[in-house]
Parts: sequence; C-alpha cells; structure tokens
Amino acid sequence: MGVRAITTVGDPVLRERAREVTPDELRSPQVQRHIDDMIATMREAGGAGLAANQIGELVRIAVVEVDHNPRYPYKPPIPLTVIVNPVIEPLDGGTAEINEGCLSVPDLRGTVQRHLAVRVSYLDRDGTERQDVRRGLTAGTFQHEVDHLDGTLFVDRVTDPTTLTTWEQFERFHREAFVERARRLVERVGS
Ligand code: ZN
Repeated sequence: MGVRAITTVGDPVLRERAREVTPDELRSPQVQRHIDDMIATMREAGGAGLAANQIGELVRIAVVEVDHNPRYPYKPPIPLTVIVNPVIEPLDGGTAEINEGCLSVPDLRGTVQRHLAVRVSYLDRDGTERQDVRRGLTAGTFQHEVDHLDGTLFVDRVTDPTTLTTWEQFERFHREAFVERARRLVERVGS
C-alpha cells in the first residue's frame, strides 16, 4: 500500500479511542504493513509523527521521526520510533506552552500546554517492551501522538483561541518568537 490518505478533522475516526493491539496481531503481516504505511505516509507528508487513526486504523500504534523537518525546523532530531500500546506518565519538570500543528488539521497551528518530561512505556514493532524518558519538544510530540489514539486533537487543548494561526501567518508573525522560546526550552530541558 505505501503512502495512505490522511484523515482530516471532522472524520469520526479521529474522535474514537483506538484499541490495544495483541502480541499476535502485532506479529501479523497486516499490522506490520500498517506500520510500514504509517512510516511512509508520515515521511511523504513531512510530519513529525503519525497515529494510526490518521490512516483510518483504530489500533494503538503511532510513529515518530524528526530529521531536519522543514515543517518544524526547530525540533531536535528524533530517530524513527514505533510505539505500540503506548502509555505516557508525566514526570516532574513542569509544563510549557508549545505551538503545534497536525497533518489532520490542515493549515492551522495553535498553542497548547505540554508536560516537559514524560516516561513513554510501549512495545516496539517487534513486541519488545520499552520505556523511554522524553523531554522538551520531543515530549510534546509523543503526547500529541498518544492524544490521537484517545481521539483527542491538539485543537481540543488550545485554551487561548487567539493563538490559532495559519501556517502562513505563523511564519510571518509568530515563528521568530516561538523558535527563540523553543531553542531556550531545548537548551534548558533537552529532548
Ligand atoms: Zn496530529
């Protein structure tokens, strides 16, 4: 299949809770193919991550990767990570306002509060249990993807609607200030 169509806001699949994947399912060629499709779709669209709901599959799988991403040039690199049945636990470290966008919410960005340090417990695509601590903007990316699996979009978490902006206006009016804030944040807490 390869690159799949990305569901957009208004599609009920983005509002449903995706279900856990069993070890047998995870080993199946079908689910492994979904994972390959998600990686191909994320890369093709230039996203920093993609959740299964976004290709219309209601299973708890998401992929994350940042490698000099032109959509988010200020994000620190994240090696390709496939998370299955992820659970996020906030750690001490407070929260910060992060400006986010989403492939399923075309041409809109907004500011949300994210935990600055989280423990992500998950299975990798081979079914091995893993735990990573993620910080800063990277922690935000993982929270965004796991939100998708619960039917939550970033716009639900925008508490100040005046922060909503198209990508063009973000570039014109807000990018510089946010990138500076993001740079200081990464310096302070890492990724
Ligand atoms: Zn998203």
